[in-house]
Amino acid sequence: MSRKPAAEYYAERRRRLLDNETCNLEFSTKGIFEIILASPMEYGATMSSLRFQNTFRQLASWPETCCERAFYPEMDEYHWRSRYGYPSVTLESGKSIKQSDLLFFTPSSEDDYIRILEMMSLSGIQLKSAERVIKWPLIIAGGTTVTANPMPLAEFMDAFVIGETEPSIGPVLDTIKSLGAQGASKKKLLRRLATLPGMYIPSIHDIPGKVSSIMRQWAGSDGMGMTSYIHSPDCINRDITMLEISRGCPFNCKFCQPGYVSLPYRECKLEELESVIDELQDVKILALIGSSPRSHPDIRKIIKAAEKKGLEIVLCSNKYDDQIHSGELHDDLTEKSIVLSPETGNDFLRKVIGKKLKNKKLLDSMDKHLESAEKIKIYFMIGLPFETDADRSSIVDFVKEVRSRTDLPIEVYVNPFIPKPWTAFQWSPLANPTDLRDWIDILSGEFRKMKKVKAWFGDPREAHIRALLARGDHRVSRALEEKLSGVGWNTAFKNAGINIRWVLDEVDPEMSFEWSFLNMGFGHTRLAREYHASISMNQGRIKDLEKAAEKEELD
Ligand code: SF4
Repeated sequence: MSRKPAAEYYAERRRRLLDNETCNLEFSTKGIFEIILASPMEYGATMSSLRFQNTFRQLASWPETCCERAFYPEMDEYHWRSRYGYPSVTLESGKSIKQSDLLFFTPSSEDDYIRILEMMSLSGIQLKSAERVIKWPLIIAGGTTVTANPMPLAEFMDAFVIGETEPSIGPVLDTIKSLGAQGASKKKLLRRLATLPGMYIPSIHDIPGKVSSIMRQWAGSDGMGMTSYIHSPDCINRDITMLEISRGCPFNCKFCQPGYVSLPYRECKLEELESVIDELQDVKILALIGSSPRSHPDIRKIIKAAEKKGLEIVLCSNKYDDQIHSGELHDDLTEKSIVLSPETGNDFLRKVIGKKLKNKKLLDSMDKHLESAEKIKIYFMIGLPFETDADRSSIVDFVKEVRSRTDLPIEVYVNPFIPKPWTAFQWSPLANPTDLRDWIDILSGEFRKMKKVKAWFGDPREAHIRALLARGDHRVSRALEEKLSGVGWNTAFKNAGINIRWVLDEVDPEMSFEWSFLNMGFGHTRLAREYHASISMNQGRIKDLEKAAEKEELD
């Protein structure tokens, strides 16, 4: 492909994406303050996220601002841009992401860190905040992942929004706008931003461990209940309209970072949801979104209101990352699937990891929904803290039990457990990738023997990298830069002075992590207490097993 036609081809692709969209809201395309909301994921996945659509609405509807979106390019386009020096551009006008007053990144997992740097690098933006002498664009990141641990990106971002954007975004925009209009220096701007609740400014809040006043922000239930308003055949969830019915999670799974970092659990009020549903136009399928949509006390009434409007309903969990699932059972957004998230096949281990759900209840709920489903998806984790060989065998038993109850195709997803910041298991080790590989071999052999069961396994090596990024400190920024230069991850971490084996060992709960200076609204004491409770529960199990073995010997 010669250079010119490729440029035209990608410009046309961009315009087609835009033309295919229908948007129920109108935003100003002109404003004195120009923002770009940049997703380090591709268009289809990003625009299927209610959270992204909500952030865009907040930014684009703020007075005197105009906001455009930018997405990580599809792989072919990324290589072309990188090879010929074309920047990452916005969807709306095709301008470089460098040409804005504020560039707001929304990483949704650790995998996005390197993609953020790739987008910046494509666009000729100096990576390090301290080296960006030109004030604009100011670069900010927000979202669950950086709320929990901003340190890996701390050298690159000018600021972080810690917590949900609703309470923070207005004051942030007003501050930047007014000081920007006065010609204030970048330093002055950042100093002022540092005074706002929930803002972490690495260059000002200089020494992690010595500040404790950066408090995570969250919206009241009044600011919730959002619906998706941009639809496109290019989105993963196509013609489905999403409606948020709750935020946070009523459960307390000890491995789940979004579960902790989205606390408190909040439900949207029935009357407000009914009125939103009543006003919906041209909607056929409505997805009710929450970490555990069936936990909403008025779920039946909400469904009734939607059915009265002739809408088809799906109940979906938030798709934050691979370690968040509905408390019990939910539907897939795009397929007629029942989704079960038992995490493990064993009731005891499930209790130890904080998920108070029994096999029987889960399977009985599944039975009730079999008639309308076309397949079953089941999500497990391996390498969980305190997991034994017997626990892993129980995964096979669980799938066998599902197989015995239905002829529907079964898809099994098994991901390695990754210890994440601000969870009760943040001190736990990642299972050794070699062991993970052996366990995957055993499980896949067992699943192959079952009819109409297909299994997918998370890659142990990728899990190892993710754990290093998730629990990393400021030195990870060096590893990211090294990775950007084209070396492999092992070399990148080595050059950054990070021993990649450290995440394979348990960390002393007395030890304070670099991210501990943030105030999540709950403390490390709570997490340590929950961790120790799991340890005690497991010790009880070991004692019981020893007693049973002794008894057997005596008999
Ligand atoms: S895994 Fe699911 S049920 Fe458990 S805390 Fe996270 S969101 Fe809630």
